[in-house]
Amino acid sequence: ISPIHIVGGGLAGSEAAWQIAQAGVPVVIHEMRPVRGTDAHKTQDLAELVCSNSFRSDDAETNAVGLLHAEMRRMGSLIMAMGDANQVPAGGALAVDRDGFSAAVTAALEAHPLVTIERGEVAGLPPAAWDKVIIATGPLTSPDLAEAILKLSGETSLAFFDAIAPIVHFESVDMETAWFQSRYDKVGPGGTGADYINCPMDKAQYEAFIDALLAAEKTEFKEWEGTPYFDGCLPIEVMAERGRETLRWGPMKPVGLTNSHNPTVKAYAVVQLRQDNKLGTLFNMTGFQTKLKYGEQAKIFRMIPGLQNAEFARLGGIHRNTYLNSPKVLDETLRLKADPRIRFAGQITGCEGYVESAAIGGLVGRFAAAERLGRAIALPPVTTAHGALINHITGGHVTTIDEGPRSFQPMNVNFGLFPPLTEAAPNKGPDGERLRGNAKTQARKKVLSARAIVDLERWLG
Ligand code: FAD
Repeated sequence: ISPIHIVGGGLAGSEAAWQIAQAGVPVVIHEMRPVRGTDAHKTQDLAELVCSNSFRSDDAETNAVGLLHAEMRRMGSLIMAMGDANQVPAGGALAVDRDGFSAAVTAALEAHPLVTIERGEVAGLPPAAWDKVIIATGPLTSPDLAEAILKLSGETSLAFFDAIAPIVHFESVDMETAWFQSRYDKVGPGGTGADYINCPMDKAQYEAFIDALLAAEKTEFKEWEGTPYFDGCLPIEVMAERGRETLRWGPMKPVGLTNSHNPTVKAYAVVQLRQDNKLGTLFNMTGFQTKLKYGEQAKIFRMIPGLQNAEFARLGGIHRNTYLNSPKVLDETLRLKADPRIRFAGQITGCEGYVESAAIGGLVGRFAAAERLGRAIALPPVTTAHGALINHITGGHVTTIDEGPRSFQPMNVNFGLFPPLTEAAPNKGPDGERLRGNAKTQARKKVLSARAIVDLERWLG
């Protein structure tokens, strides 16, 4: 059997290599460190954790990343096995001894008879002689390779920074205050004329909001990141600094909208939220990309009428991050449409985080190995954390993909990506008591998690 080549021995590349080798297929990992470094990596180990040493919550019942851990363990994940073996105390989170963890991943791969590790940069498209390739070069893909990918798949196929606006769980929006309407009731392709959620502000609320933005603590770009502000994509706090009225003329303009709860009163400013996934469970705050600190974001955005109880699936941010416009350029098993011998895995596909990147690496490794062995590829059910994540990458995202790479933004796994329960969510606790608020949300997550594990086992079986 001829080998599958993996470019990048990070979280995704290491997990992909392990899954391929465990399936009985030889694999070659091409990792550029230590021959060439990145701005964040410090060692030459595979699967280096470049920042925090946490895999986040390990609670598989009520936390989506904890559920992803549980699914990965069932799939024989190397990253989870070595994470578990190198655990350090961290409450409900799974945190690891970073050096011990990366050394253990490296040692396990070095010891595997079907794995070869070659050190050196792949500084352009993989050679034609490699008939099956997985590119898993991450957020800091080397410039020559990034350039080659851009050339092969088109101008808008690759972004070099993310520009993330906060994403809110629909069920936490107060629709007694907010209302559905598109500006001027415009009906776009696939739209209804009522595609946006609108949150109205009066003058005093707007002024208080601007004051809060101006006073809030911001995060800084790292020295090597530069300041990647594009026209039309400025962080809201930068817009507020340019003038108190700038937002009212930009993303918060109140024109073409009538408050259905209060039609005679004209709003002074309006925050719009746009549907973010096909399921309609998530909405993003339109034009609200931001570098505010996370704590400040939750506090300030809850000042917006209608969002006073908002639960955020993710907060906003802008980072150096090389990632594909995946819904446009990849097929459902993450092959590049322009050159199907190449698959992508990890953060470059538009997931975010160590665990998510490793999970997508594992899936793509399984897909590539199945293909090499002439077996059919079965996608994981969308009700599983793996399925929900890959669905986000390949098309669960609703924004028109032709808008360019910025309409598709990277995401951590979260329950908003899962199809809602078809049956009513439980409303009684174990002692028959009526569940409300957070207790009810937790009960719903438990049912979603249990459904995921049942469906994953059926898929694995
Ligand atoms: P990586 O783990 O980055 O692996 C990519 C590998 O490819 C690297 O080893 C690189 O050396 C190699 N490579 C690149 N180009 C080439 C080439 N041309 N040829 C050969 N090899 C190449 N996530 C979290 O969950 N928690 C955090 O705290 C966190 N902090 C972060 C901080 C920073 C500064 C950055 C940039 C990212 C952070 N992330 C964090 C995201 C995290 O890095 C990713 O989620 C995860 O590492 C992605 O895994 P990956 O395998 O896709 O990429």
